[in-house]
Formats: sequence, structure tokens, C-alpha cells
Amino acid sequence: MHIRTRFAPSPTGFIHLGNLRSALYPWAFARHNQGDFILRIEDTDLERSTQEAVDVIIEGMAWLGLDLDEGPIYQMQRIDRYREVIKQMLDTGLAYPCFMSEADLNLLRDQQMANKEKPRYNGLWRPELGKTLPAIPVGVNPVIRFKNPIGGSVIWDDAVKGRIEISNEELDDLVIARPDGTPTYNFCVVVDDLDMNITHVIRGDDHVNNTPRQINIMKALGGTPPIYAHLPTVLNDLGEKMSKRNGAMSVRDYQKAGYLPEAILNYLARLGWSHGDAEVFTKEQFVTWFDLDSLGRSPAQHNPEKLLWLNHQYIQSADPVSLAASTKPFAHEMGIDTESGPDFVQVVSLLKDRANTLIEIAEGAKLFYLPAPTFNPEQLAENIPDSIKPALKDLIRLIDSAEPNKNAYGAAFKQVLATHQLKMPALAMPVRYALFATTQTPAIDSVLVVLGKEEAIKRLSKVVL
Ligand code: GLU
Repeated sequence: MHIRTRFAPSPTGFIHLGNLRSALYPWAFARHNQGDFILRIEDTDLERSTQEAVDVIIEGMAWLGLDLDEGPIYQMQRIDRYREVIKQMLDTGLAYPCFMSEADLNLLRDQQMANKEKPRYNGLWRPELGKTLPAIPVGVNPVIRFKNPIGGSVIWDDAVKGRIEISNEELDDLVIARPDGTPTYNFCVVVDDLDMNITHVIRGDDHVNNTPRQINIMKALGGTPPIYAHLPTVLNDLGEKMSKRNGAMSVRDYQKAGYLPEAILNYLARLGWSHGDAEVFTKEQFVTWFDLDSLGRSPAQHNPEKLLWLNHQYIQSADPVSLAASTKPFAHEMGIDTESGPDFVQVVSLLKDRANTLIEIAEGAKLFYLPAPTFNPEQLAENIPDSIKPALKDLIRLIDSAEPNKNAYGAAFKQVLATHQLKMPALAMPVRYALFATTQTPAIDSVLVVLGKEEAIKRLSKVVL
């Protein structure tokens, strides 16, 4: 079987990180099986669909590297096809027009509720052999309903939830076209999944209730239902449904906050799927390992600290050249001119082990690109006591003659400490202050390497005068 999967988002409202997990799994399943992955934008809800949401989805997928074999295919561009199928279904008796008015439907529902029955369409306009239908009212545009099978049940083996059986008694005749002829959501999904030869539908479990209806329509149209895998919801860190209101962020927000796409992908992969106790893995490993059997059955919970931890892991092990390239835009945004000052790759290498995000690297990098600090006499008196100046002078001399590397600078410090009977902070703090007007910097020997011998000596010499 040639595997074909799809991600079929509705571009309505806010697209948060959890939404994109529904793209990741079908993508991985297709890639694992050398199949095809299709993006279908379900934009028939014209009032709620926005271009902004479409952009967030497409950019987010591209950023995570979820490449497409087909699409994006927009449902709004397939309206003629849906109408064609509706016409075929009317012609072949699989569907029928229903002229029951909105008011009558409401009345029916109220009666059923009063009788403690489940509200459902009563089949008034459903044609049956020997049945006389009511007279067609004038001037009323009918809805089109699908003739759901009577009796029996719909059964499918959900790849996540196991066997599910729904009696046809539970399902009334679904409206597949509105009075103005526009097709309805569940119907479009079926036509698309059939036309696109989708073999595996991997989607959120909020669609479990739609599945028996979709299977019935699909079978009526002569299609073979795909395999369904319904993914449990992703909850936020408080165990609530994720939404913008309670602080959910979009992929774009994470990108702006300095997360790496590899970290996000790894994180999302683990949000409802596992492979032994593997926590940090590459995209290639994920694709190799991905299978539907290892999908979790209970809701996954978003864990921002874990995501930050993963981001740190990826930053720490990243190649400095590419990490510097990813960090540059953040540095430029902060007004840092990465071309005037120390080599940016070196700066990033120095900072990456302690940073959780690209923003933290850029923040740390600022130090190296600010102009040399200037001090007033009070600042100098407070931070560079006269008693330390002889040691600083020795240090300047030793640094000047040292090889420009961490070990040699470290040895210079040691020698000065020994000669002057000092502890490291007593020397390192004034040095840091002299170089940057702050005592918060990474390891001083590495800082000297990155700042450069000449610049360091220039700055130190100014405070010992
Ligand atoms: N458009 C639906 C949604 O965004 C998904 C439909 C499907 O995957 O079948 O929830």
C-alpha cells in the first residue's frame, strides 16, 4: 500500500503549538513509510477563516521542516467538486432534499428534549419505497441530507483508541449541503480524503464523533475508509485546553523567543508519542522510529520547562557557525553590530553552554560589541582599589607576552595571584569591571580570548594609570 497522509487544519482562530503536533505525526508517518504527505486547508468557514492563520500554519510547518508532497490544497477551491458529488448522490438516491424549516426543526428538537429523547432529524423528507413525502413548500430552498444506513453499526479499529463501534441508531441523516448549496464540513472531508487517496487519517480526537458519519458517507460513495488514528488532546501546563487566553503560544512566538526548530520538533514529537526512554533525538531518528503503535492514549501535557531544557540541549550541542547564523538576527534586533567587534562565532561558542535561548545568547553577546567603557573617579575608586593596581599591572604585562589562548591567559592569572597573594575574585572582578563595566561575565580567561589581547590591554591599561 502506498501510504498517503494529510494535515487538514481549519485556519480559524489562534494556531498554537499543540495544533502543529497534528501535522507532525502524519508527516512522520508518511516519511517513515516513503509515502506522501499533503496539506489541506479546510477554509470553508468563511467567517472564521483568516489568511493570518493560514500563514502561521504554512510558515510554522516550513520552519519545522515538515515538507509537503502536495498542497496546500484549499477546500474553497474545490467547491465545484463537492457540488458535483452532491449532484451524483442526489441522482443515485444516496442523498435527498429536505424542506423542513429551521422553525420546524427547532420544534422537533424541543419535543424530543421534553420526551428525554436524543435530538435528531426524524426522517420526514427521507424517501422510502411506498412512502408519500409531504408536499414541497413553495419558495423554500432545501438542505441536502445524506441517507444514513438504518440498522447495524459503524465499526473501526482506531490505531490509538482501539475498536470503536457506533450504532447507526445514533446517527441521523447528516446535512451535506446548506440551503444555499454550500457543502458542509463533514462531507467535504470525505470527498477530499477519497479524492486524495488518503490511507491514514491521523488527527485530534475531537473528531471521533465525526468519524462514523464520515465512514458511512465514504462507503456509500464506494470508497474504502482509511485507517484512523485519533490523537488525545494536548493540554497546557495547568491541565486546561490550550488557548490564546490561557497563554498558549504559536510556533511563530517560539521562533521569536529564540527557540530552535529542532528543539520544537523534538518536543512536539514527545508530546503524545515515545520511543523507549529517548528524550533527545534527531529528526531522522524520529522518522525512523515513528509508528502509530507508540502513540499515547492519554492527553499529553505541555511542559514549558521541558521545552526550554530541550532548547538548551540543542543550543549546547549546535555547531557554532550555524548557531551564530541563527543568533545574528536576534543580535541585530538588539542593535548589536556583529561586524564591528570580536568574531561573532567565537562569542556564540563562548556563550552557548549557558544559554537556553538564542535571545539569551544575543543578550550575552552585547557585552562584546558595546564601546569600551569609561569611568568617573568614584566608580574607579569603588571598583578598582589602588591596592589591586600593582597586580593589574603585572597581569597586563604577562598577558601581553602570553600566547593568545585560554590556557596561557589562565596561567598569567595564576602567576599574578601567587605573586600578590590574592584569591581569584579579588583579581578577576576588577578585571571584568575594567573590561566591561560589569562583574557578570563568562569565564575571564575565555573572555580575554574573545575580546582580543590588544583590546583587553587597552581597556585594562586605562584603569591602572
Ligand atoms: N479541519 C479539522 C480541524 O482543524 C481537521 C479535520 C480532519 O483532520 O479530518 O480540526
